[in-house]
Amino acid sequence: MARKAKAKAKSRPRSRTESRPKARARPKARAPRISAATPRAAAPPRRGQDLLARLNQGGVICAEGYVFELERRGYLQAGAFVPEVLFDHPEVVEQLHMDFVHAGSDVTEALTYYVHREKLRVIGREKDLVPMNKAALGIAKRVARRTGTLFAGDLCNTNIYDPADAASQREVERIFAEQVGWAEDAGVDYFVAETFSWGAEALMALAAIRKHSKVPAVITMAMHRENSTREGWSPVEVCQRLEAAGADVVGINCHRGPATIMPMMRDIRAAVACHVAALPVPYRTTPAQPSFMSLTDPCCQDARAFPVGLDPFVCTRQEIFDFGQEAYALGIHYLGVCCGAGPHHIRALAESLGRKPPASRYSVDMSKHAFFGNTERIKKIQTDYRAKL
Ligand SMILES: [Zn+2]
Repeated sequence: MARKAKAKAKSRPRSRTESRPKARARPKARAPRISAATPRAAAPPRRGQDLLARLNQGGVICAEGYVFELERRGYLQAGAFVPEVLFDHPEVVEQLHMDFVHAGSDVTEALTYYVHREKLRVIGREKDLVPMNKAALGIAKRVARRTGTLFAGDLCNTNIYDPADAASQREVERIFAEQVGWAEDAGVDYFVAETFSWGAEALMALAAIRKHSKVPAVITMAMHRENSTREGWSPVEVCQRLEAAGADVVGINCHRGPATIMPMMRDIRAAVACHVAALPVPYRTTPAQPSFMSLTDPCCQDARAFPVGLDPFVCTRQEIFDFGQEAYALGIHYLGVCCGAGPHHIRALAESLGRKPPASRYSVDMSKHAFFGNTERIKKIQTDYRAKL
């Protein structure tokens, strides 16, 4: 009830066309720079521009965390977290995309997270690399075009980046180049490169996007317990470096819940001119245990909760609603929820921006509840019993 009342009171705090001051201050020179960098002049002119236009006008919501949700639904194994479901049950992936769009996602992101060469090598399926990437891109594109959502490609942490090993860096470069190539061939509207804990690896992903594509790049870092990248750059420093290297949107995704991502987001928003992205995990992280991998459950002998014991820490719809309002009020326009997100979280995020996605038809309304309702059809014998429930 509280959330609904708040949503009504605060819905549309500003018109969708009213930009935040930071967004207005965004350098106009960015678009020509992207065009100049492209080797593919034949791409349709609208590709990619939609994301930036939407960000300038208001919020863009991007549902992420597909592998966690597929694990919960029984179609993906926790551990390796490789979405073999793309081959086993492509219809489940398509339905998941549809569920998130129904809940308010503006983006359908190809499920190529952990479908890179290194991960497939780990599970002994490297031969499936190309068809699995193409399957993910094909499913997402179909949903995006059917629903009018943005079609995003996805690059992610390779888990082999080593600053002291030139051979590993060459392999990282190869992984990014080939995944950018397949996504570019599929016609993505923009790229997400996400969940990097090495700043240098994120810069390599950005360089691959800039080299092989001209569409926008959203680059997001993931911070573990420490408020720094693994090479020791602060969240602000890494985002400034990414912006300087040509990222269109910079920010943080995954690992941190709303409570421990927001302090970083405030600093980043104040330090860069480009658009900023915030995609926390929907878990109640704390200053003592700031990442979802560090959470321990006192009900289970303080065992590590990650990855399949996180249920007691899941954020409520209200908490995600509050996160959305707080982040947007700061001028953070690219918003999402990462690993652990369900469609109900994405709906709450959409409603925090004053929107009513199709799933809002079913948002909570307790007025007709058997005991807590307040319509005349709820009998007094029921409402009188409330205190005993
Ligand atoms: Zn995540």
